[in-house]
Amino acid sequence: MMVFCEECGERYIIEDDELTGTAIIFICRVCNEIIRIPAGKLPRQPEGEKQVESEKG
Ligand SMILES: [Zn+2]
Repeated sequence: MMVFCEECGERYIIEDDELTGTAIIFICRVCNEIIRIPAGKLPRQPEGEKQVESEKG
């Protein structure tokens, strides 16, 4: 998913692998603003059973 710093507009791309269903917090490398993404804004639901990858096809 794509994330923008609300302070300076810097764009960050967060890989799906890094989405664990919990909030993401990091510091903008440009303006040092703390960027916080609550779990509710993440594409994956914070609650629920763990998805186990199964064979496709
Ligand atoms: Zn910034």
